Amino acid sequence: MNELYKTQVRNALVSWFLEEKRDLPWRKTKDPYKIWVSEVMLQQTKVDTVIPYYERFIAKYPSLESLACAKEEELLKEWEGLGYYSRARNLQAGVREVVESYGSTVPNTRKEISTLKGVGPYTAGAVLSIAYGVPEHAVDGNVMRVLSRLLLIKEDIAKPKSKKIFEEAVMELIDEDNPSAFNQGLMELGAIICTPTKPKCLLCPVREYCTAFFEGMQEQLPIKTINKKTKVHKMKSVVVEDDQGRILLEKRPSKGLLANMWQFPMVELPTAAHTTEEVIEHDYGIEILKGKELVAFKHVFSHLVWEMESFNGKLLVEKELPSACKWFTIEDIAKQPMPVPVLKIWNAWKERNT
Ligand code: SF4
Repeated sequence: MNELYKTQVRNALVSWFLEEKRDLPWRKTKDPYKIWVSEVMLQQTKVDTVIPYYERFIAKYPSLESLACAKEEELLKEWEGLGYYSRARNLQAGVREVVESYGSTVPNTRKEISTLKGVGPYTAGAVLSIAYGVPEHAVDGNVMRVLSRLLLIKEDIAKPKSKKIFEEAVMELIDEDNPSAFNQGLMELGAIICTPTKPKCLLCPVREYCTAFFEGMQEQLPIKTINKKTKVHKMKSVVVEDDQGRILLEKRPSKGLLANMWQFPMVELPTAAHTTEEVIEHDYGIEILKGKELVAFKHVFSHLVWEMESFNGKLLVEKELPSACKWFTIEDIAKQPMPVPVLKIWNAWKERNT
């Protein structure tokens, strides 16, 4: 890349961003904590979904200290519906490290900020450039798409080692005077103009400098190999009410998918030797009530799918419940953080039973 080209690209991108940027709540602040929260929420989640969550979250936890002191269950309740709950736990763990080890000031170097729990290369670069004006790369899938088209980079973006090439490209192109607008400009361009399909090249501020546009290759880039097949798990879940009107919930294990979240008793099936009914009766002492299906749906996580069926059930008195199970009143259930697929079952049960 020659100097003239770099200057032209960065000027075109930065001016376009400063004029056309969407009015988003996290763009009204330079507070590194708030930028950090927004970047964590925006991972794997659309902007429109994040806005109300961000506003509620910042109203409830306006400072590092307030988030550091929050109870995990309350925090997860705030996060409910955003998914990827480990993001919330890691955010809180990272914030606690800042409060305890950095005197409540988010570090302003890549070396230090990258040691915080949950802060990867992208989040580190986003916080450093947007909050502190440090010229550091912040490369995610959007940015790789834009750069692969702009600079005709044909590396497979699904391969982790390709990321370095894009990070180096950003460091060559970045506007040292306004790294915040430059990085956000790349992100914004990827979000609204240089979209995965049908990029709006005629509206693009860097079209004149875009190699893929001139080669007619914008739809073929970036190169991305398809991930291995997502694993499908067949799950069955059952909602049980006792004679005092309480509902049975079970806490998930403290590690792994949806750690520590509450769900209705749930099993993965089928096993080679047993039917759904047998396993639920054996593990929980619950009888599935025939003809009482609640809701069936697919829930897609990043790396697996739950094919979920849910039912009303009845407790068989002779069985002791597993220790992770607990009875909740309907009012108390509303205060528990529940993952999205469990909320769907709960809503179906309420529609049917209340
Ligand atoms: S000209 Fe088209 S392909 Fe190139 S960066 Fe702009 S939107 Fe993307």
